[in-house]
Amino acid sequence: LHITGPLGAGQCVELSKDQGHYLSGVMRLAPGDTLTVFDGASGAFRATIASASKRGGTLEIGKQTAPQRNPPDIWLCFAPIKKARTDFIVEKATELGAARICPVTTQYTNSERIRQDRLQAHALEAAEQCGGTFVPPVDDILPLRKMLADWPADRALIFCDETLSEDPDWAQGGHTSPFPPAPAAILIGPEGGFSPEERGVLRAHPNAHPVSLGPRILRADTAAAAALTLWQQAQGD
Ligand code: SAM
Repeated sequence: LHITGPLGAGQCVELSKDQGHYLSGVMRLAPGDTLTVFDGASGAFRATIASASKRGGTLEIGKQTAPQRNPPDIWLCFAPIKKARTDFIVEKATELGAARICPVTTQYTNSERIRQDRLQAHALEAAEQCGGTFVPPVDDILPLRKMLADWPADRALIFCDETLSEDPDWAQGGHTSPFPPAPAAILIGPEGGFSPEERGVLRAHPNAHPVSLGPRILRADTAAAAALTLWQQAQGD
């Protein structure tokens, strides 16, 4: 369970109504039962339920069971698509160890609005589900232009380009392009892909590493999960 920190052994922590309901009503836990809690920065702790009901409750924080483990410095930048698929991207990016999630608007973006708080809550749930101690921050949405203008000088930009494998002018085409090490960011376009103009700007960007994920066109949510998996396999953990 995620608890607002900082956590430390010996503390008593008050549960919100939602947390109390989750532990007592959904997980069917009772006073004396134990669970693992984390705050996203201090590692994992064993906690004992002192009380829990739909009105709230109290946890007693016991000893630390795992140190804080942050993922390697890989961001996922993506253009939001339909709501359920955007939720899926945030959930899978968290499970696959994205260090930060950055929604961007592009020329063909399907949805220019996001509920940042909702997506952040999805990231938190996904971190709880996979037993992580880290919750990636979800940024507010930003136009691609602005994101590129402020791009950090030391961060590789892994531009996932489905047209690359067919482009005879692109000497490094094919899915064998190496994934650069951290600090890095993966960029995934919307359902309609990047516009020709955006593709030109991205390929010319000084930090860009255009990569192909193979000869098939993947849906944006599949592409995000595949690119993160490939990067983690090549560089991360
Ligand atoms: N423009 C395409 C179309 O409408 O035919 C499809 C875009 S695809 C659904 C969405 C995004 O996923 C792309 O912008 C790209 O970032 C990524 N993507 C999908 N397949 C890919 C591949 N084989 N290699 C690299 N990136 C891919």
